[in-house]
Amino acid sequence: MSNILLNVNGIEVIYNHVILVLKGVSLQVPEGGVVALLGGNGAGKTTTLRAVSNLLAGERGEVTKGSIELRGTRIEKMTPAEMVRRGVVQVMEGRHCFAHLTIEENLLTGAYTRTDGKAAVARTLEKVYGYFPRLKTRRGSQAAYTSGGEQQMCAIGRALMAEPKMVLLDEPSMGLAPQIVEEVFEIVRDLNQKERTTFLLAEQNTNMALRYADYGYILENGRIVMDGEAKSLRENEDVKEFYLGMG
Ligand code: ATP
Repeated sequence: MSNILLNVNGIEVIYNHVILVLKGVSLQVPEGGVVALLGGNGAGKTTTLRAVSNLLAGERGEVTKGSIELRGTRIEKMTPAEMVRRGVVQVMEGRHCFAHLTIEENLLTGAYTRTDGKAAVARTLEKVYGYFPRLKTRRGSQAAYTSGGEQQMCAIGRALMAEPKMVLLDEPSMGLAPQIVEEVFEIVRDLNQKERTTFLLAEQNTNMALRYADYGYILENGRIVMDGEAKSLRENEDVKEFYLGMG
């Protein structure tokens, strides 16, 4: 299949040499797709995203089996910075904006791997403000004094400053009011449709994620237990019973 951007094939992840957390996870993300990785607390969603963006080492974790390919190239041994240069960026759970920097300074930190000059970065900044008008209004405010929704938008906006092909979005709905969650997901849809940005999003909010994703994988205890088109998962009785009340 030539349009597969990300191919995760049977990965095992171990933390601290002993704790086996992913027990053979396989998933595919097509170019230009929005794929949801669903499951409860501790299922292994964040670990899967960290494995893809190569952020496991900082957590004393490692991929011990399986492979991860980006457009057919093995990427497990690459550094996080190399992943960013290849167009893969992760937006971490809990937002992680730099509290003492302004919104605009935060956004500009997202362009650190770029080598195409200030004018190009300035164009991307204007584009990001186009998607997030709230950030433009708050551009001079210290992140610490902005709302949770604005900080989540800032974290996504910062990722976009790298002009990524694929964004790994970890629990974008966490801690946000339903209306703001909706606003964030609408922007994800917009970015996907207008920029063809591919998304792999980890979510506990199954209901919301399946409204915006094309395809979903359900992770339980380090294993994929179900996957399918978002529409069919939404209508699946087991999914309704066990997951649609979550989030
Ligand atoms: P949540 O929504 O709670 O973040 P999750 O599905 O993203 O859940 P992970 O954060 O990937 O799940 O965690 C999966 C398992 O791995 C949990 O049992 C967790 O305690 C464990 N784990 C996560 N990070 C580490 C770490 N750095 N060291 C050891 N164990 C870890």
